[in-house]
Amino acid sequence: MLTQVENLPIIQAPQLQRFDWLLHGFGLKDISIEDYLRAAGLKNPVIPKTHQSHGNTVHVCSHHDLRLPAGSLAGSTNPVLEGDVFVTNQPGIVCWVRSADCLPILLADRKNKAVAAVHAGWRGTAQKAILAAIETMQKQFHTQTSDVIAALGPAIGGRCYHVGSDVVQIFKKSGLYPNPWLEQVDPTHWYLDIAYANLHLLEEAGLTKENIYLSLACTACDLEKFHSFRREKGKRGEQVSFILVR
Ligand SMILES: [Zn+2]
Repeated sequence: MLTQVENLPIIQAPQLQRFDWLLHGFGLKDISIEDYLRAAGLKNPVIPKTHQSHGNTVHVCSHHDLRLPAGSLAGSTNPVLEGDVFVTNQPGIVCWVRSADCLPILLADRKNKAVAAVHAGWRGTAQKAILAAIETMQKQFHTQTSDVIAALGPAIGGRCYHVGSDVVQIFKKSGLYPNPWLEQVDPTHWYLDIAYANLHLLEEAGLTKENIYLSLACTACDLEKFHSFRREKGKRGEQVSFILVR
């Protein structure tokens, strides 16, 4: 649902809003992570530098590995984390991803107070990045799937996203085709609904419907609010999604 952090518009999941130990949100276009965290009044959050690579590499983020004492600002000496899944249970570390059509996913373990942010386009979905996040939370924090709340943010909608047989072949190799979220529309094209695909993966993993929030916003349809990599050919821009333990 569309709400505000101070005066900044943001999309939040009601299932995550009720936990006062965390802060989360799916940002709108051109509002930076720093803007949101400042508006929320957070004192010196640690924002890891990341490079997303459309895979399923997971980083367990800790103050120790980021070489930053709690409360210090991220600086130019920080390591760049290469990957698309960021998890932590340490207060003050921001798990965040950038997207513009790809699906941002935020996870929280309500019992063990751990969180994760996932960036999943078609490649990350085929590589089941969302399941890599949950498996890591299980190993690191003893997370039970029944305690996981998942929020799927704005992404390019199925009706707006055409893919070719090359993409379908990759899903076939991952054991994810045929399926209800990849619909053939002509001999060489399919509609792909990434959010629906990840919803399906979450349900297979054992999450129940009431613990999953699904934004219906389509980045390609709503250019007022979002950047769309495919609709805005050549124009660069993105939105941020984040979650952290306060
Ligand atoms: Zn659309």
